[in-house]
Amino acid sequence: MRPPAALGSLRHPNRARSVTSTETTPTPDAPGILDPATVSRPAYRPRRESVTVRVGDVPVGGGHPVVVQSMTNTDTADVRATVEQVAALAAAGSELVRVTVNTSEAAAAVPHIAERLRERGVDVPLIGDFHFNGHILLPRHPGCAGSLAKYRVNPGNVGRSRWDEHFAAIIGCAVEHGRPVRIGVNWGSLDQELLTRMMDENAAREVPADAHAVTLAAMVESALSSARFAEEVGLPHDRIVLSAKVSGVQDLVTVYRALADRCDYPLHLGLTEAGMGRKGTVASSAALALLLAEGIGDTIRVSLTPAPGADRTEEVRVAQQILQSMGLRSFQPQVTSCPGCGRTTSTFFQELAQRVQGHLDARMPEWRGRYPGVEELRVAVMGCVVNGPGESRHADIGISLPGAFEEPSAPVFVDGEKVTTLRGEGIVEEFLALLEGYVDRRYGTG
Ligand code: SF4
Repeated sequence: MRPPAALGSLRHPNRARSVTSTETTPTPDAPGILDPATVSRPAYRPRRESVTVRVGDVPVGGGHPVVVQSMTNTDTADVRATVEQVAALAAAGSELVRVTVNTSEAAAAVPHIAERLRERGVDVPLIGDFHFNGHILLPRHPGCAGSLAKYRVNPGNVGRSRWDEHFAAIIGCAVEHGRPVRIGVNWGSLDQELLTRMMDENAAREVPADAHAVTLAAMVESALSSARFAEEVGLPHDRIVLSAKVSGVQDLVTVYRALADRCDYPLHLGLTEAGMGRKGTVASSAALALLLAEGIGDTIRVSLTPAPGADRTEEVRVAQQILQSMGLRSFQPQVTSCPGCGRTTSTFFQELAQRVQGHLDARMPEWRGRYPGVEELRVAVMGCVVNGPGESRHADIGISLPGAFEEPSAPVFVDGEKVTTLRGEGIVEEFLALLEGYVDRRYGTG
């Protein structure tokens, strides 16, 4: 056993010397001080340059904020149900909403859907999703073609023998109606003719590439060659958005990096068939965050499989949260709360965090119109004195609850300063009142 006297000579390396104010040139080896070059280095790469494509009134690409979009899962021919869901998605914050247009009935319903939405004051641009028969539906239903703000066409689902003719018919409608088109490749429906040709070419090489790599290359080629063809038949360069979705995170990154390098069309990001619940949310977040951090991506969709009867709007909230967590856009006030641990004595802390979050959710529809900028509000709800006061000081307004064996009081911090201490039964209500007052003072214009 080490003799007690030896302890005096043991010191944590960072405590071996103190940092003094005379250290005017911080260096990486100066304890506690980060190299200024490290601090100022951007966390993300600059946004990739792209042309701006206007989808209705919503600009996509060209450095405009990354747009959140979603898709309905109703039968589009059911006007009432589709209007309800489009309105709900728009109310949740979806800035573009796609509907499938798969039958004559669906195409005939689109103008009625658009009209009813207008009557309700919902002006979200509608996008039509076409597979297999878009070349028939769009020319036959000019009301549909004119009501949609953008068409999505999948080059793998246009028809093999008369691909050029069918694809040109869809693009012709877009040109006639002045609409942009998303050329949306999906590896579940990749153009088989193109893939076969690229596989054959690969097999003839001296050292053939892995078949998986050829598949990813075929996705990129399918998107780019289809875009070239669309321009050849008259679609302006700034009316094209590209996507090439796969269901694996690393594959998605590979494909989008290649697309980003080879064109300046805006890119629609999404992990296809992301899955349900936690898996879909985490996989989409991981994939989209990697690309967004590289400056790649102009509009995003999170393709979650909803549980039966579950709210379709969850995919909108997840997409917003990805952008807000990355600091790219602000949609909702954010609550910072610790996970709680053995230092929290009861469920009171969790209940408070939940009440604060619920209060913010409930108040946002009114606050959004009344308090410009309130979506950037940061609230902290912390469980004990360990990190509570520090985290609360970093927030705009924060509360630190007492942990086990601490004095039963809850200091409240506003703009980094402790302003009061709450005690007793009414802590929740009093904190919410302080929160309301803070929002009014800070964001109110009256
Ligand atoms: S702040 Fe306190 S209660 Fe919360 S996780 Fe940290 S130690 Fe636990």
